[in-house]
Formats: sequence, C-alpha cells, structure tokens
Amino acid sequence: MNKPKKTLSTSITLPSDQTEIITNSDNLSDLLDNHSTWNNQHFCLLDNNPTENRKQFVNNENESVRPDLLKYQKIAQIKISTSLAQSPKRSQYQASILTDNCGRFASKTEHGLVALNRCNRRTCPICAGIKGKRLTNEIVKCIDQIEYFLIDEADENTPQNKLMIGLKINLNTGSATTLDDLKTRLRIMHDIWARLLRTAKVKEALIGGFRSTEITQTDKDHANPHIHGLLLIKADTDLSALSNHIRNYWRKTLSRELKKQKIKADTIASFGSLEPLYRHTKADLREWTRYATKGSFDYNKAEHRKSQLNTTVRFWITVDEATKGMRLTALNGSIKTAVALVRKQASESFDGSYNIYNQDFAWSDTKSAYIPFGKYDPDTDDKKAPLCQSLPYDRVTPHLGQLFKAEYENHHIRRLKALGDHLLSIGNYSVYSQFDDLFIHNIKTTNTKIGLDYTEPSEIERDSIKIKHKSPDSK
Ligand SMILES: [Zn+2]
Repeated sequence: MNKPKKTLSTSITLPSDQTEIITNSDNLSDLLDNHSTWNNQHFCLLDNNPTENRKQFVNNENESVRPDLLKYQKIAQIKISTSLAQSPKRSQYQASILTDNCGRFASKTEHGLVALNRCNRRTCPICAGIKGKRLTNEIVKCIDQIEYFLIDEADENTPQNKLMIGLKINLNTGSATTLDDLKTRLRIMHDIWARLLRTAKVKEALIGGFRSTEITQTDKDHANPHIHGLLLIKADTDLSALSNHIRNYWRKTLSRELKKQKIKADTIASFGSLEPLYRHTKADLREWTRYATKGSFDYNKAEHRKSQLNTTVRFWITVDEATKGMRLTALNGSIKTAVALVRKQASESFDGSYNIYNQDFAWSDTKSAYIPFGKYDPDTDDKKAPLCQSLPYDRVTPHLGQLFKAEYENHHIRRLKALGDHLLSIGNYSVYSQFDDLFIHNIKTTNTKIGLDYTEPSEIERDSIKIKHKSPDSK
C-alpha cells in the first residue's frame, strides 16, 4: 500500500490478477502514510464526540480536508443522483449521470483529496462543499480589503469609528413548507432578506453581509428552508434596537408576503436571534462562515449523514427544481465589493498555469470507498448502471432505456481507458498499436457527441483510403 504515487498509477492489474480487496481502513491508512503534512488531529474518530471534533477542525487555519470527508460526500451524492434518476424530467435524469460521475476520480494534493469531473449541480454534496469552502476563504480574505477593523483584532490606535463587529443571524419562514410551496417560500425569503438590508435602521449600521440558504427535510412532505447569515456592523451600534428592528421587520413582512401567496404559516419562530461572534476575529468569522456556507448537511457529522440518508426521492427532485437559477448565497455591501476585489486579484495573479491533477484515487462503487487508481478496475469496481438499478420496479419509467444507454457508455469508456492504460504500462507498444483501430472505433461509437452515421464510411476508413492513394502520387 505504501508504494510511491508513480508506481501506483502505472501498475494496473487486469481483472484476473485482482485478488486483493482494499478495505476502507486500508485506504485511510494509505492516505495517512502518504500524507506527512496532515497532522494527527484530522484523524481522530469522528463519531465519538462530534462537538469536540468540530472544534478541532474549525479552528484549524490550514483548511485541510479530512481524508474521509470526500467519501461521505460521495455516499451522500449517490442518494441524490439516484433520486434525480427517478425524475421523468429529461434535464434531471440526465443531470443524475453527471452527478454520479462527479468525484469518481480524485487527486491527492497538499489540501487533501480533490474531486475530479465536477458536475457543478447545486444539490451535489461534493460541489456544494467545494463552493462553500471557496466562498469561506474569499470572505475571510476580503476582511483585509474593508476599511473597518474587527474590534478584537484592531490595534489601540484604530479610531473608534473604524471598528466593526460580526453578528450571526438565522432566519426561516416560520414553519415548515410543503414541498409544493418550496420554491415560493425560497423566493419570499430571499426577497425579504434583500429588502431588510435596505431598511434605514439596518443600512445605518451595516458594513457588509452575506446570506446562505439551506434546505432540510422535516417529514415526508415538508421541508425547512432557512438562512444562515452574517452581518458586519459598526461597533457602536445599539444591538438590542437593531435586533428588535430585524425581528419585527422579518416577522411582519413575512406574514404579509405569505398571506399574499395564500400560505398559512406562523411566523413567530422565523427569527432566532442576532448573536455576536464569540470573538470578533477573522478566526471566529471563518468558523461561522464555514458553518453557514457548508451546504444543507455537514458530512463531517454522523447525525447529518444519517438525516441526509433519510431524505426522500421527491425531496431531492423538488429541491433540485426549486433552486434552479436561484442565488443560494448572496453578498451585500462591503463584503460584496471586497470579495469582488479578492477575486479580481486572484485572477490577476493567476500565471496561466493550471494545477495538474492526477487521477490518484478512484471511487469503487462496490467497495464504497476511494481506492488507489492503480487498483481500480472498472469491471469489478463499477456498478455498471447504478442509476438504472435504483429505479423502482413497481412503475413504468419511460426513460429507463435512455438512462441505461448513457450509463453503459460511460462505464464502457472507463473500461476502455483502463485497458489502454494497461496496454501502455506493459511497455510493449506493438501490442497497443494492434489495438489502436479498435480504440478509435470504440471511442467514436461510444462518444455520443461525435455521433456515428452508419450510412457513411467512418473517418478512420476514409483516412486510410487517402493514404493509400496519396503514397503512389507523391512518388
Ligand atoms: Zn458535483
């Protein structure tokens, strides 16, 4: 297991040679051994004491990823891709294949495992996790671009009128919504947030803010959309007056808007409290921002993983549809302008060279774990057509054929690539050249983008004819 990376990536075993079963713990210890930059605190067992562990992770400045986090996200992702696969909507069942492929391969970097073939679907746990982490970094960095200073980090020479504090804010729409009304509720919630920040009392105190929306399922037919947000406000603001204003405005406007939509809901519990950060420092700001932008579930926590697995197919189909084209995170005021600046600086300092991500690990459907790429064999590790297999048998699914074809082709391409890698790795290129026609033919027939017209001679045949005619002419 401790072979260096280079050896791993070239030592592909053929199906018949594959006798070694890699267990989860092997995978983890392999990661541990190869990763000297991670220190031990990332590897304490998660489920013993979640609160204690959370503290350890969030206070770490390096933002390293627990090596098994990606695994949990991948397992959660299967829940979502198999749910979307059941949607009769073409856009959704097609997206389910992309989501299923997202993170199938992973690269080992100094920051932990990085998922490859990203799907960028809002509901995808892997993509949501990456997005949240990126935004957290940007928001923490942007503090240096704001003309105010966090009160617990400012030096004594900072003028009083340049000090700011951070407030955590949690909002929802009062009571759980039926899945049918989810989109309306989200719209109302986002709209009132924008209006709230424009009210005179908030405007007067506010330096910048952000909101991040999460949606959790409360029972079979209900969901709870809610906002975690942050307000950076001037340090001399009267907090209880501001808190009262926000509470009253949120409840009143929410009641009115829900009534307009003929939705009955109690709005008493829609505003929790305006809670100052424990300390007004970048470290505490990072902790809250990370919590707020993590997405609807924190896959580091066993209880969140469990509740994610208890969600229903209809929930994911609805959430995927309801959040389409919607801003689930929004930045305001100085945070917005400063983050734009951070992004601009990042793109300006970009030297044009992209990180080269190797396929160091591959997801094994059958082992439910990431295994070294060299040990990955599509014949035994892929479930072939997992989405089709997840479709219910008790009703007709007209898109079964379409879905199966796309899934099968994906699997076929992976098989072919593994075979190609194997042939290359034996070092005997004549073997490879014997197969190259076959490869080209297969790639053409399996790549749906190229498409194949069977009434026309294919490209490879035309080329070979050309060469035959050319050589006597050129003599
Ligand atoms: Zn994804």
